[in-house]
Amino acid sequence: MNHQVLAQLLLHLDGRSYKAYQEIRGRYQFPDFELAVDHVQGDPFAAPSRLRVLLPQTVAAFPAQTYQTRSREIALRDYLTRQFGQAAARMHQTSLHQTSDGSYRGSGHSGLIAIAPTGQQVLERTAVFVTSEQVEARFVVGLPARGRQILGRAAATLLCDDLPQIVEQALKYISLDATDLQRHIEMVEDADWLRQQLPAKGLVAFIPNGAVLPRHSGISDQPLAIAFDGSAKPQPEILTELQTETSPIVAIPFQSPATLQIEFDRPNQGSIKGMGIPTGITLIVGGGYHGKSTLLRAIALGIYNHIPSDGREQVVSHPTATKIRAEDGRSVTGVDISPFISHLPQGRSTKHFSTENASGSTSQASNVMEALEAGATVLLIDEDTSATNFMIRDRRMQALIAKAQEPITPLIDKIRQLYQDCGISTVLVMGGSGDYFDVANTILAMTDYRPQAVTAQAKAIAAQYATARIPEGGTQFGTLTPRVPLALSLGSHGSPAKLKVRAVNELILGTEIVDLAAIEQLVEAGQVRAIGAAIAYLERHYLNGITPLSAILTHIESDIATAGIDILTPYPQGDLVRFRALDLAAVFNRLRSLSVKTPATFSNVKPTSTRR
Ligand code: ADP
Ligand code: MG
Repeated sequence: MNHQVLAQLLLHLDGRSYKAYQEIRGRYQFPDFELAVDHVQGDPFAAPSRLRVLLPQTVAAFPAQTYQTRSREIALRDYLTRQFGQAAARMHQTSLHQTSDGSYRGSGHSGLIAIAPTGQQVLERTAVFVTSEQVEARFVVGLPARGRQILGRAAATLLCDDLPQIVEQALKYISLDATDLQRHIEMVEDADWLRQQLPAKGLVAFIPNGAVLPRHSGISDQPLAIAFDGSAKPQPEILTELQTETSPIVAIPFQSPATLQIEFDRPNQGSIKGMGIPTGITLIVGGGYHGKSTLLRAIALGIYNHIPSDGREQVVSHPTATKIRAEDGRSVTGVDISPFISHLPQGRSTKHFSTENASGSTSQASNVMEALEAGATVLLIDEDTSATNFMIRDRRMQALIAKAQEPITPLIDKIRQLYQDCGISTVLVMGGSGDYFDVANTILAMTDYRPQAVTAQAKAIAAQYATARIPEGGTQFGTLTPRVPLALSLGSHGSPAKLKVRAVNELILGTEIVDLAAIEQLVEAGQVRAIGAAIAYLERHYLNGITPLSAILTHIESDIATAGIDILTPYPQGDLVRFRALDLAAVFNRLRSLSVKTPATFSNVKPTSTRR
């Protein structure tokens, strides 16, 4: 149907009850694009209506080089999502200004046009798709009403005037800043390239000189900014705020110690130098407040690409790098934590450990074992969020409390075996105990936010002041026991209606509220929504009581790789964001309705190291 039909229909609906909006479902041809009205909300306060625009490349006219590689395609889609979001926000501002009461288009979500929100990371989202044929944008619209009465004229303006303007500004190559777009694409492609180089260079992470790692605040992921070498551009509002302070807070740009410096020649932007963190065991020490946790956090988020001007846009880490922390209170189901913990009081099993309320040490041990099961090859651990008794047990404590009375074998006695037996590298922040000098391969000291390579010095100190610790827990890492998940009792039965995501740290699945605050590498609510959908999907397709969790994760990864994230939901959604299998596993493992079995035939299987 023609777009004029839509305009007439909307005017015709003016004054009728909100339900009559259902009549506009369908497809409309505009001069430049096709508009698909896929789902119409039931009332003005319900979740807004879902629409799409389909813009042929003959009109959108993106040069093939802007999307021809996978990296570029994701970068372009991310860029267009941001452009659409900004254009829609500008439009909303203007329309609010047109009215005295500030509610131009009525009740509930009236007058809203919105696309998936974006942060500092460049992610694959289902908001925008680009092919050689067309550009597709998925967004939501709050169809206007006064009370529950249709405001037909406002709706016609919204869909037939405002929306085409947004499309014009955000989805056509000619309207965009070509230089800015090119920079976005090339930065992302270079970051992907850098990340791919890591294994061959024997590295787990790379942090370039000049990178700005600290963030504006504990609740903002914007750069702390003001790097005078121009490597990070502060947001205008942050700049003003900082300038009003007597002594402005200035981010110290990252600088590699000479011995760990490595240079890469990137495909687009050429040479870049910075610090390579080698495989093995890396210890980050240094005084309090000298930037240790900030460095580790940047490494943890180096699994993602970042927008230019973020400060971390060329910080990359191994795709399976996983932040591990203590998380007392979490639920654990059937995890073999015996490498770290054995003979608990009351004879509780640690080969098949379950609890509704884990302690600091048992939760941290479970987090390690589950990460290995899900394919992690690099562990990132910070003393700030660790259980002390999981990390260390010194000579004096060994003398006072016999090993027979201590269920925990601390990480210090397992960290080398993790690398030697299982190929797992660890980057560890530990400013409070020098015992780790003995087991680390690389030791960095953070001083005034700059790392110094102090391996030789620390090893000399370790020789001079021997701890006389007695290694505990044997010479092998221990068993990795796979688990087979059984049917969930979520009460959801794969129904997406029972899935709610309010924020990045909370998922409501059926009757269960899952606390995700400890899964630090989830960055967007859309990832959590997609993970919720993936759990419903795996429940429908793979929860057969035979397939081990690690294999289920591989299946889901390959399903998404072949058919896209859309495969997870019954109809196309615009609010899903790509997640790692590791983070899906992390959410899955926290379900309190989870039950598993451990087939004896599966014992001693090593973790796979290729999964992402
Ligand atoms: P640590 O873990 O060593 O105690 P943090 O990483 O928590 O230290 O950092 C302490 C404070 O210093 C934080 O407020 C952080 O934002 C800030 N900070 C970290 N790195 C830098 C830097 N390169 N330049 C300026 N401030 C920084
Ligand atoms: Mg810290």
